[in-house]
This record gives sequence, C-alpha cells and structure tokens, in this order.
Amino acid sequence: MEQNKIPQATAKRLPLYYRFLNNLNHQGKSRVSSKELSEAVKVDSATIRRDFSYFGALGKKGYGYNVDYLLDFFRKTLDQDEVTDVALIGVGNLGTAFLHYNFMKNNNIRIKMAFDADPEKVKNDIAGVSLYHIDDLEEKLGDVKVAILTVPATEADVITEKLVNKGIAGILNFTPARITVPDHIRVHHIDLAVELQALVYFLKHYPLDNI
Ligand code: ATP
Repeated sequence: MEQNKIPQATAKRLPLYYRFLNNLNHQGKSRVSSKELSEAVKVDSATIRRDFSYFGALGKKGYGYNVDYLLDFFRKTLDQDEVTDVALIGVGNLGTAFLHYNFMKNNNIRIKMAFDADPEKVKNDIAGVSLYHIDDLEEKLGDVKVAILTVPATEADVITEKLVNKGIAGILNFTPARITVPDHIRVHHIDLAVELQALVYFLKHYPLDNI
C-alpha cells in the first residue's frame, strides 16, 4: 500500500507502534493482540484495528497480529532501511544532549552535523558528530533535509531563512518562537516548557484517581 493512502492521524501513530513491536520482536514474540498493543501504546483497540487495516494487517481472532509482518511494513513505510541524516542548529545545553542521544536505537535517524555561532563550541566533535560554525551552514549542509532548532528564540527566524534557502524539507523547532516557512516545508514544534506547564496544570485541576 502506498504511504500517502494512510490518514495523517494514523501515520503519526506509526512510530509508536513501531517502537513497541520492535521491543516485542527483541523479546522473541511473534504475535500480539490488539488489547496488548492498546495497553502498551495507550491507543484504544478500535483505533488500532482501523489503523492496522490500512497496513493490510488483519488480526485474526484468538491469534492477534503477526509481529514480523507489521515490522516489515513499518520499516518500509518509515524508511527504516534508509538512514535519514539530520542537522542540529544550536549546540547549547539542549542541543548537546541531543548530540549524545542515540536516535539510531529505535529509528534510522542520525544527527550528522551541528552548527553553532560560538567558535568555542564548534572546536571539537561531540559524540562523533561534526561541528561547524553557523557561517558555514550553506557550504556544509549538503543534501540534509531535516533540521533540529535548539537556538535561542530570537535567532529562530534568521536560521530558518538560511535553512529554507538551502532547501530544507522539515524542521523540528524546539525554540518557543513560531517560525514562518513556505507551504512546502513542514515544521513540528516542541516547546518543553509549555508541555511541562500543561502537565502540572492538568495534575492540579484534573487529578487522576491513582491509589
Ligand atoms: P548554553 O548554556 O551552552 O549557552 P543554552 O541552551 O542555555 O546553552 P541558548 O542561549 O539557548 O543556550 O543557546 C543555545 C545555543 O545556540 C548556544 O550554544 C548558542 O551559542 C547557540 N546560538 C546562538 N545564536 C546562534 C545562531 N545565530 N546560530 C547558531 N547557533 C546560535
């Protein structure tokens, strides 16, 4: 099945399914029930059944889903057989943590290079990632199509413009700035402070009845 036939909401859950099924596979399990999946990934089983029907995986009653089949499908759909290179801009505290994080563990994604405006910060490689001065972005970016932004919010627009001019396709924006890009570029926005604030708010106002 072609990837573009999968609804966006389903596609967003793919990495979640993939990670859990990969774990099952490592444990030597060959099948999984929608109930088991549902509890693990916190998606209701009706949604899981509908999602999986798009993948051509029809669960059998009393058997569940074939883990190998699903993994094979996910690998192809998520391009797990190919490595996707990513550039990181801003080697501060958050950026440095990402450089040390092993994205390859679950996904074939790797930060190939990183840029910073501070010459002191780009002197040595970190965790095998080449570091360059931001002024060399145009020259070094090559055909990298995905970027992570961990610069101060005030710098987000200028950097984004440079990335757009270099033909970037997607930006994972960790700055609180709402960046503007042309329609053909995808931006995903993660504001850790806002997420944390929302969690604390919900805990206060909508406490779960955990005993
Ligand atoms: P640190 O304490 O190391 O400065 P931080 O995460 O608190 O880290 P920020 O002020 O958020 O610091 O900046 C993040 C990183 O972005 C820093 O390493 C900074 O040098 C870098 N930076 C700032 N402006 C730019 C820019 N225009 N281009 C690239 N990197 C930049």
